[in-house]
Amino acid sequence: MTYQEKKLSQRIAEIKKAEVVKSFCYSCPWNCPTEVYVRDGKVVYVKGNEDAPNNIGTRCSKGMASWWITQDPDRVKYPMLRTNPKGERGEFKRISWDEAFDFIAGKLKDIAKKYGPEAVALTCHHDPNTQFYRHLLSDLYGSPNMYAHTSGCEQDRRSACLTIFGHVFPMHDFANSKYIMLWGMNMLGANQGLFESRGILEAKKNGAKVVVIDPSFTETAQKADEWLPVQPGTDGALALAMCKVIIDDNLYDREFVAAHCEGFDGFRDHLNDKGYTPEWAAEICGIDADTIRRIAREFATTKPAISAIFKGSGYYTNGHDAGRACYILDALTGQVDGVGNLHLKDWAPVGNPVDIPDDAKTAPKKDPLHVAMGYPLAPDLPNSRLPEAVIDGKPYPVKGLFVHSTNPVMSDPDRDRVMEMFKHLELAVACEVLMSETALECDIVLPETSFYEMAEVRQGLWLGAEAIICQPAIDPVGESKPPYEIVQGIAKKMGWGKHFAYKTWEDWAATATAGLPGGLEALKEKGFWSAPPEYNKVGKGLETKTGKIEIYSHAYADAGHNPYPEYVERSVHPDDEYPLQVTHSKLSMHCNIVTQNNPMLMEICPENWVEINSADALKYGIRDDQMVVIESPKDNITIRAKVVEGLVPGCVSIRHGHGFGHWAMGSVAKGKGAHSNNLMEIHTNPVTGANCYNECKVRVRPA
Ligand code: SF4
Repeated sequence: MTYQEKKLSQRIAEIKKAEVVKSFCYSCPWNCPTEVYVRDGKVVYVKGNEDAPNNIGTRCSKGMASWWITQDPDRVKYPMLRTNPKGERGEFKRISWDEAFDFIAGKLKDIAKKYGPEAVALTCHHDPNTQFYRHLLSDLYGSPNMYAHTSGCEQDRRSACLTIFGHVFPMHDFANSKYIMLWGMNMLGANQGLFESRGILEAKKNGAKVVVIDPSFTETAQKADEWLPVQPGTDGALALAMCKVIIDDNLYDREFVAAHCEGFDGFRDHLNDKGYTPEWAAEICGIDADTIRRIAREFATTKPAISAIFKGSGYYTNGHDAGRACYILDALTGQVDGVGNLHLKDWAPVGNPVDIPDDAKTAPKKDPLHVAMGYPLAPDLPNSRLPEAVIDGKPYPVKGLFVHSTNPVMSDPDRDRVMEMFKHLELAVACEVLMSETALECDIVLPETSFYEMAEVRQGLWLGAEAIICQPAIDPVGESKPPYEIVQGIAKKMGWGKHFAYKTWEDWAATATAGLPGGLEALKEKGFWSAPPEYNKVGKGLETKTGKIEIYSHAYADAGHNPYPEYVERSVHPDDEYPLQVTHSKLSMHCNIVTQNNPMLMEICPENWVEINSADALKYGIRDDQMVVIESPKDNITIRAKVVEGLVPGCVSIRHGHGFGHWAMGSVAKGKGAHSNNLMEIHTNPVTGANCYNECKVRVRPA
C-alpha cells in the first residue's frame, strides 16, 4: 500500500508516531465516534472517525479541545471524605478506596435498615456506565429510584414522543427533508449533534425551506428562510392553530391518519370546540393569522417535511402540550418515519454488562418517586421536587443520594433549596471528574476517570441502529476509577461481589456486545457498528397502548389528564415591577456547564451574556456590552448585556453556561459570566415534571 493509498488516520498516526484508539467523544451527549492518538501515555491528537455515519470524521470545537480533561490540574484525583458538617464550606480529607467503599457500604446498610432501600436514589446523566450503579442499587439493593437529569433537559419532548409515538428518542432525517419546522430548536447554535446540524445545512443546499419558531433570532434562525418570533411559552397555541388549518383545509393525510393514528375525529372536534383558530392564536403568540395559515399550508403540502422540537418549546408549565401539538403536525400530515421525516430511531442490540439472576434481585416495595409524587407520565424524576422528599419526607423519605456526572446545585432551579437538601441527606456520594458545586455539598467524593481513561459501550445517536465504543486510551489520572470498578468495590463490601466478577473491562463489554455482529472484537477494531436506517416502521405497531400514533393519548387519559393537547397560559408573566420574561439559549462553544474549565474554549467564548432587545435596552438605559444586574423576585445576577434586534421585545435571553467555579475547582472557569438558576423560583411542569427554567420574570438595570 502506498502512502497515498493509506487512510488519513494511518497517515496521521505515522506522522505522530502514535497508537490509534477507536473511541468516542463525551464532551457533549452526542458522542461522536473518534480516533484518539496516544504517544508516551498522552493524548496527542484526536479526530473524528471518518467511517462513522454520524460525524464522518468531523468534530466540533468542544470535541477538538476535549483532550484538556486528561491534563486539567483541577481534576479530582483521590477519594475524599468530608470532615466538617454539611452546610459549611465543604472540607475534605484524602482517604483510600477501601475506606471509601467501607464508608458507602456501611451507610447503605444503615439506610436500608432505618428507612428501606427506596430511601436511596441515583441521579446521573444518561451514561450507560450508570447501568452498573443501577444493577447495584436497584436490582440488588432494591431501590426503584434510579434517575437521570432529563427534567432539566428534554423532559417535555421525551414525554410527548413517548405518549404519542411510544418512542423515547426520535431523531430527524433533516438532510432528506424539503420543509423543516424547528420549534425553539437551535440546531446550529446549541450543543446538538453534528449529524443533525449538518443535515439542516445539506437540506438547505438541496433547496429545503427551514422555518425557525423562536423568541430569539438564533444562529439557526439566521440561516433559516423564515423566522417566526413567537412570544415565549406560546408554541402550543401556534401549533394547535396550524393543526386546525390543516384539518379544516383537508390538507391532512387521510390514508395515513386512518391507518396509523388514534383519535383523529375527536381531535378535530376538540380544536373546533376550543376555537383554536389562527385569529385566536395570533392574539396569543404574536404571529399574524395569515402567516399561521400560510406556514401550516406550506408544511402540509411540502413533502417530506419535519416538525421538530427539543427543549425550546418546553421549560414552561404548558410545555408538555406544546410538544404534543408540534408532533401531531407530523402525524396529521403523515410525516412520521419516512425518508426526510421525524425518525423513530432504530436501536442496536446492546445488552446489559452484567447479568443479575432473578433470584438475587430485590423487588422494590414502593412506587418510584415520580409516581409517588403524582407524575406517572414523567419520563424521569421531577428533580425540582426531590428536596421535598429529602427535607420533608414527602411522599416518602430519601436519605441517600448518588450524584453521577450531574450538578444539581448548579443546574436545578433555586440553588438555595438544593443546597439545603444536601444537609438532610445521611449519605451523599458524588462520582465526579471535577469537584463540582454539588460534590462540595456531599459526604464523600469519588474521583472518576474521564472518557479518555475508561471503557463504555452505548447506543450511537444516529438515525439507524448504531453501537459505539469508548476504549481507555490512557491510564487513569491519579487514583480515579471508572464506574464499573467503583461499583465492583462497593458491591464486594455489600456481599454482592460475585455479580460483578469481571477482571478486565473487556469481560463485561463482551457480555454487553454479544448480540452485535462480530461482537466486541469487531467493535474495538472499527469503533462502531451501524445498520442502515429502517423506515416506515409505524405500521408494525408502536409501543403505545393502541400500537398507533396516539393523537388521543390513552396514557394522558389514564393519568387523568386531557387526552388531547390544549393551550393553557404559562404560569409566570411580567408585571410592572418585573417587566421582562426570562428565556434561555445556549452557546455553541460550550456544553451546558461542563466545559467552562477548558482554557481553549474559554479563549473563544470566555463568558456568557444576556441578550436584550434594542427597544427594551433604550427603555431601561442599557448599552451594548455593558454589565447589568438582572433581578428576579428571588435573587439577582450581574452579567454582560448584548443589545440585539433579534429578540421578541419584553424578553431577555440568557445564554446558558458559565458562572461557576469555586475554591476547590474551576481555576479557569471561576469568576467568568453568571449563572441564572438562583433567579428562578421552583416551577414544575404539572404533567412531565420538567424544570420550568423560563417561568421567571425579571427587571434589568445597569450594574
Ligand atoms: S458534537 Fe459533542 S460529541 Fe461530537 S465532537 Fe462535538 S462535543 Fe464531541
